[in-house]
Amino acid sequence: MEDEVRASPGRAVVLVRFGEIALKGDNRRQFEQALARNLAARVRPLGPFAVRTLYGRMVLEPERPLPDGAGLVERAARAASCVFGVVGAVPALQVPLEVEHICRAARQLVAAWLGLAATGPAEPPNAAAAASQAPPVPFKVNSRRANRQFPLDSLELNRVVGADLLRHFGPRLRVDVHHPRLQVHVEVREREAFVYDGEHPGPGGLPVGVSGRALALVSGGIDSPVAAWMGMKRGLEVDLLHFHAIPFTTQQARDKVVRLAAALARWHSPLRVFMVRFTEVQKEIYARCPHPLGVILMRRMMLRIADRLADRFGHEALITGENLGQVASQTLRSLSVVNQAARRLVLRPLVGWDKEEIIRQARTIGTYPISIEPFEDCCTLFVARHPATHPTLEAVQEAEARLDVPSLVQAAADSLEVVAVDDGTPLPEQPAGAPRPAAPMEPQA
Ligand code: ATP
Ligand code: MG
Repeated sequence: MEDEVRASPGRAVVLVRFGEIALKGDNRRQFEQALARNLAARVRPLGPFAVRTLYGRMVLEPERPLPDGAGLVERAARAASCVFGVVGAVPALQVPLEVEHICRAARQLVAAWLGLAATGPAEPPNAAAAASQAPPVPFKVNSRRANRQFPLDSLELNRVVGADLLRHFGPRLRVDVHHPRLQVHVEVREREAFVYDGEHPGPGGLPVGVSGRALALVSGGIDSPVAAWMGMKRGLEVDLLHFHAIPFTTQQARDKVVRLAAALARWHSPLRVFMVRFTEVQKEIYARCPHPLGVILMRRMMLRIADRLADRFGHEALITGENLGQVASQTLRSLSVVNQAARRLVLRPLVGWDKEEIIRQARTIGTYPISIEPFEDCCTLFVARHPATHPTLEAVQEAEARLDVPSLVQAAADSLEVVAVDDGTPLPEQPAGAPRPAAPMEPQA
């Protein structure tokens, strides 16, 4: 590895920062192994990257020189920034542990940032061109020396690299340590140094898979895709479950859920959608039970069917997008009566959030524009004008006595269709040439 690093100064790699530093011992090892696995899987479609773990960092290294090196590394960094467990990912130049190499990489980075061809030490920028430039860019160098053997400490390194940049870029740059527009980060590690500017912030959380498996009930609404995402964020491997009521609901409503899954697959790929026919359940409830209890009865049936599928596919918990107090079916009493139909733990990750917060999150993860498309969900049909807000378990059980619950559950579970969705959504593009926000990779204790 040492030789490899030495032979390829200024190699473009992705530097990944990860969190959950509170994890200890076996948990930490498990976290790191899962993160490395998930990162490798996430960037595999882009090209051959090897994943190497450093303390508090992972490095994605192209396994061979790639024709479109930098562009590919930029895309890999953006892909890595959608992996749970990642706090930030950034394209970085990996160089040998020598000041001259670090300076050269910093020049390369700044030249790219300024939209110039890289300038070597013997070729200062053309003075006439420089004079016609816009006002100097305020910048600072931010060094971190994790390797105490390195001869310069971080302040000395800041000074040396900063002075070198000023020498080479002259009037294009000025030092401003308080309000820099450009930050050049230098990280000195055991075997190599990394030089980079801003990072793509990641979602944090835990790598998918470390917490077990859950089945997330997803309507076409705003809330449940966010709830599913929150489950993924805490390390759950998630399958989605959607109940459709074709022909009362349309094929478009069903397709919408597949597109929601495609948006979520950016964070969890591949993602499976379990499609279940709910039409008969809904018809039976509507025909035989008091209408004010309709929604509660439907939710209880959904949980029973979900439990049945979870038995079969090995999910330990269910996830819903339920909140507290939004609607009649989400009073504490209603939730409690609904909950008693489930055999498994039901996670409701949105319970502490206001609608505005949920909407903001839905926008961030890209599900919002799909969720607000107007196709009817099964539960918006058959909804009573005055749904019960304080149902008793007795009244609900009495109503259910009029249904053949076991065969309805069985028939619905038998209607299962599994749709596998890959990450087909393009990642949001940076406008060409635009600098990334200069968010530093915070040093870790
Ligand atoms: P959402 O925005 O997710 O629809 P909501 O706050 O509007 O949630 P409801 O529509 O009452 O609440 O649904 C409560 C929860 O029940 C949903 O978040 C979802 O987990 C589950 N759910 C409702 N309808 C369906 C469906 N057709 N398929 C799967 N799950 C559903
Ligand atoms: Mg809804």
